[in-house]
Amino acid sequence: MDIEILENDKMSNIRQEKVMKRKDGFTLIELLVVVAIIAILMATIIPAIRKAKSHAQTVVCKTNLKQYGYAMTTYLADNDGFYPYSMESIYLKTLTANLACQWHDREVSPANNDESAGPLWPYLANMGGHLCPSFKSMAGKYGTMHYNHWNSIEMEPQYSYSQNAFLGHQVGTLKESGLERPAAEVAIFVEETMWFLQDNTGHKVATHVLNDTIFFSRHPNDSFGQIGDSVATYHKNLNVELNLTGTTYISQTQEGGMGNAVFSDGHVELVDPYEYQEGSGGRFYKSYLISFPKRGVLNDESPY
Ligand SMILES: [Zn+2]
Ligand SMILES: [Zn+2]
Repeated sequence: MDIEILENDKMSNIRQEKVMKRKDGFTLIELLVVVAIIAILMATIIPAIRKAKSHAQTVVCKTNLKQYGYAMTTYLADNDGFYPYSMESIYLKTLTANLACQWHDREVSPANNDESAGPLWPYLANMGGHLCPSFKSMAGKYGTMHYNHWNSIEMEPQYSYSQNAFLGHQVGTLKESGLERPAAEVAIFVEETMWFLQDNTGHKVATHVLNDTIFFSRHPNDSFGQIGDSVATYHKNLNVELNLTGTTYISQTQEGGMGNAVFSDGHVELVDPYEYQEGSGGRFYKSYLISFPKRGVLNDESPY
């Protein structure tokens, strides 16, 4: 027995020594390896999760716009093919205190207030999604940094889609059958930016922007002499830090990001607002190219 106990004590001393030695090894080398592995995993997994989340948000946004396309088709069928007056098709402007803040003003949303519902609203009301999830999360960060924001109007994003103003710029003037360009090239609704955009060469892509349910991208030669509204940059914007500067005119000066649009043939696609064509009237950004419903797009004046 005694010998056995002695042997056991010896064994446990040896084991303890081994354990002590192993403990030293853990802290110095293995811990570093574990930290390095975790760092590598984080670096691999986090962008993948972000990408998956961003993709899911884009799908929700596309579904919303697809339904907006259906709503317009139904409206056209009920109205002899005439587009609704784009200025007031979704929101009647009677209640709006500040057009620039309308998109985050809960009180004037037609979903909450019948008095502000335009003629297209009944077709959109039961569609569910009026807000792009990517835009919503961006609005949480930068929402108040838009042109002419009033702090008195709470930041509660309500919608993020706008009707192409060229379709129905006057009541009862344009029919769906009057589109002279292919239906697949004329946008009906787009995600509209609320920031001034510049490309990397300093060219203005969007000025005088309002996220206001009316998408009016101007011809470079029109009487305003201004580039107007633009498709937004809320998607595929993962690697672009918004460079928001100034207090009155907030601009995104870094290139990148895209916005969704639904076209007259019903398809939805991501549009790059920085893409352009050079024409006889100047530089035509993508927002204008997907807006104009007539032939001779690069030479025609805007209808406003
Ligand atoms: Zn505002
Ligand atoms: Zn979107």
